[in-house]
Amino acid sequence: MSIYDVVILGGGPGGYNAAIRAGQLGLRAVCVEGRATLGGTCLNVGCMPSKALLHASELYDAAMGTEFANLGIEVKPTLNLAQMMKQKDESVAGLTKGIEFLFRKNKVHWIKGWGHIDGPGKVTVTDSQGGKTELNTKDIIIATGSEPTPLPGVDIDNKRILDSTGALSLTEVPKHLVVIGAGVIGLELGSVWRRLGAQVTVVEFLDRICPGVDGEAGKTLQRSLSKQGINFKLSSKVTSATTSATGVQLSVEPAAGGTAELLEADYVLVSIGRRPYTQGLGLENVGLATDKRGMLANKGHRTEAAGIWVIGDVTSGPMLAHKAEDEAMVCIEQIVGKAAEVNYDLIPNVIYTKPELASVGKTEEQLKAEGRAYKVGKFPFTANSRAKINHETEGFAKVLADERTDEILGVHLVGPSVSEMIGEYCVAMEFSASAEDIALTCHPHPTRSEALRQAAMNVEGMATQM
Ligand code: FAD
Ligand code: NAD
Repeated sequence: MSIYDVVILGGGPGGYNAAIRAGQLGLRAVCVEGRATLGGTCLNVGCMPSKALLHASELYDAAMGTEFANLGIEVKPTLNLAQMMKQKDESVAGLTKGIEFLFRKNKVHWIKGWGHIDGPGKVTVTDSQGGKTELNTKDIIIATGSEPTPLPGVDIDNKRILDSTGALSLTEVPKHLVVIGAGVIGLELGSVWRRLGAQVTVVEFLDRICPGVDGEAGKTLQRSLSKQGINFKLSSKVTSATTSATGVQLSVEPAAGGTAELLEADYVLVSIGRRPYTQGLGLENVGLATDKRGMLANKGHRTEAAGIWVIGDVTSGPMLAHKAEDEAMVCIEQIVGKAAEVNYDLIPNVIYTKPELASVGKTEEQLKAEGRAYKVGKFPFTANSRAKINHETEGFAKVLADERTDEILGVHLVGPSVSEMIGEYCVAMEFSASAEDIALTCHPHPTRSEALRQAAMNVEGMATQM
């Protein structure tokens, strides 16, 4: 029997960050991970491989279309999909090995296998050969992540009907890819395959893409993606799928009901959300139960069972790697008795399409619903000199500030490289900055970040470059 201070179930961004912080703080920590590699969904089949394909496909598309030619670069690219997948897999392998290195550096143990809670402070790990290891611990952190939500009638086989993992490793470019769900995964992976030559149709139940993002930002992104050739069928639902050796026939109806139409596709991506993963954890042995979706509730990362904590996708809040990471560090600090908390109001959100969409804080819709008086400062990338010379002028920066105090309440960016720029506003908002604070801060020229400053200036109608 091995004795630890903390046993962490799951080696994703929640689990591995908790393990590393525990090691840093001198706890005897072990991370239990059933996959062959560390890094969880994010590193293995999520954030990282999707960004690898987004990057490669963006360059291919630029070379294939008119973008390179307009810059005076004349090339005739040929797609080597096997190489594109290989470089993605190699990058992923490097990253997962990196977590192993960080574990060694911080004296964290990794036990390969699936963890099961047998009772308070007791975990059994079963490895791939059926071998068992018993662990005794003061605290247990559940960081078991999430899995794709299934769609009844459209069964994922990862041959023709794919989840995100299947869509990240296709060996051919689809002729027609139908994406069910216009959320983050649908738009990012739809973009990858559209850029590589597929016809892409996105079927979305609601009357808008990406519910939850600022309405104006969402509409702008949808317009750009439509111009790139992605076809959107909003307010529509898929009711059944028939699979053959070569493709899938989908029945699609208006969301409100009505006449069905048939859509033929050679591949279908089901991306209608993810659900917490808690199967086979032995929760009943410590008196815990999930809600209907499988989610474990928490109060300050504690479950209702003493000594059992929960972080990341498996519990409430946005299913994002950086949210899991923040919770991991705060959870460990609480375990050692330090004061720490996650600021859930300031978790940024990014969609890595072209243009990108990045936001933090409240949307206009949320502020209106709260009845909060606010001012809007907007600045289009068409008026930003760096975006102009780079021919990347789609989108805008929008700053929402309190009408009375000028405090920044929300920031919504659609445009080039905005994923890298939203951090400026995360820091500013963490320090309760006003729009004027950003407006008075010198930004380097020529950069796209000047658009962020101009938007802040425009909260008082004082942008100088439009
Ligand atoms: P996970 O990363 O899911 O890790 C949980 C781990 O626990 C898994 O490895 C699993 O094998 C293991 N596990 C489960 N049960 C047990 C058990 N009983 N014993 C041992 N191990 C167990 N988020 C972003 O912020 N940015 C992005 O760009 C982004 N892109 C994404 C793209 C895709 C295609 C997908 C699917 C997701 C993406 N996400 C992104 C979401 C992100 O991957 C998750 O929010 C994040 O991985 C959650 O971390 P986690 O540690 O809670 O869970
Ligand atoms: P999502 O919640 O982002 O989007 C799901 C979409 O499917 C929604 O628009 C929803 O209205 C729609 N939908 C639901 N049921 C439907 C149905 N029956 N028919 C048609 N449409 C339907 O979910 P996702 O795109 O699957 O992503 C899952 C999670 O992964 C997200 O919560 C996200 O946080 C995370 N993720 C993040 C990133 C990123 O940060 N860039 C990238 C990928 C995934």
